Amino acid sequence: MSKISFILPAYNEEENVPRIYEAIDREVRESKYDYEFIYVDDGSKDRTLERIRELQQKDNHVNYVSFSRNFGKEAAIYAGLQHATGDAVILMDSDLQHPPSLIMDMMKGFEEGYHQVIACRDRRGESMVYRGITNTFYRMMNKLSTVELQNGAGDFRLLSRQAVDALLSLSENNRFSKGLFEWIGLSKKNIYYENVERQFGETKWSVSMLFSYAVDGILSFNTKPLRICLYLGLLTMLSGIAYIAIMLGGIFFKGIDVPGYFTTISAILVLGGLQLMSLGVIGEYIGRIYCEVKRRPHYIVGETNVNRALRVVSME
Ligand code: UDP
Ligand code: MG
Repeated sequence: MSKISFILPAYNEEENVPRIYEAIDREVRESKYDYEFIYVDDGSKDRTLERIRELQQKDNHVNYVSFSRNFGKEAAIYAGLQHATGDAVILMDSDLQHPPSLIMDMMKGFEEGYHQVIACRDRRGESMVYRGITNTFYRMMNKLSTVELQNGAGDFRLLSRQAVDALLSLSENNRFSKGLFEWIGLSKKNIYYENVERQFGETKWSVSMLFSYAVDGILSFNTKPLRICLYLGLLTMLSGIAYIAIMLGGIFFKGIDVPGYFTTISAILVLGGLQLMSLGVIGEYIGRIYCEVKRRPHYIVGETNVNRALRVVSME
C-alpha cells in the first residue's frame, strides 16, 4: 500500500488549518492509500499551532513541525520534505487555494509512474496588472535562466520518493523551489485546475516581495546577469573607442574643436550607471555566497511531535 505525505506549510492560517484537514481527510480516508499530514507551522502569530495540536491529538495521521519564528515558505517546504515518510509527497498550501479534489488525479499520475505531477492553475480572477507582471516575469526568467519555468505551475504538486530525495540533496540556503523542481528533472505530468480565491486569512505577498522574488529567481539560478554586464561593458568600451577614433579624425583634419561639457557629462553618467549596475549584480552574487558559506540550518524547530531521524542528505 503506497503512503502519501501531505506537506502543509501554514503561516497565520488558524481558520484554514482544520478546514484543509477535513477536505483532505474526506478524499483519502476511504481510499486505498495510507497517508500522513505534515503541518509546518512557520512561526505563526495566531492560534495556528494550537489548531494543529488539537488535530494531532484527535488523529495520529497528523504530524507537525513548528518553527521557532517565521522562516518563509521555502524553508517550510524543505522541513516538510525532510520529515515526510511517504512514497509520494504532495505539497499543498493550507489556505484551500489548492483544491484537494485533485489528489486522486495526482495519485493516478503517480501510479502511471510519473515522478512529478504538477497541478497548474489558470490565472482567471486575478487582476490584469498582476497577470501582466507574472507574464513578464516568466518571459524574462526563461530568457535569463537555464531552466524553463512554466507560468501557473507552482508548489502544488506531487513528488515521488526519488524526486524528494533529489530535492533534499540540493541543500542550498537560498531556495527558489520553482527552479529546483525543474532543475532535478525526472518525468513530469501536468494536470489543470481553475484558480480558487482565498476565503479566510490573507495572502502574505506584497508587491515588493514579488519584485524581490523575481530578482531572486533570476539571480539564484544562474550567472547570466554577470555575462550581460560583461557584454554591456564590452559594448560601451567599443563605442568609446569608435567615438575616440572619430574625434581624433576630426582633430587631424579640422584642428582641435573643443567638444566640451556635454560629452564629458554623458560619458560620466553612462559609465557611472553601467559600473554601478555591474557592481550591484556582482554584489548580489557575493551576498548570496556570504549567506551560503555560513551554512546555517534552514530553520530552527520550536516544537514537533515527530522524533524521527531526519532524512538529511549530507552536505559534504
Ligand atoms: N506561508 C508560509 N510562510 C510564509 C508565507 C506563507 O508557510 O512566510 C504559507 C501560507 O500559510 C500558505 C502558503 O504558504 O499556506 C501560500 O501562501 P499565500 O497564500 O500567502 O501565497 P499565495 O497563495 O498568495 O501565493
Ligand atoms: Mg494562497
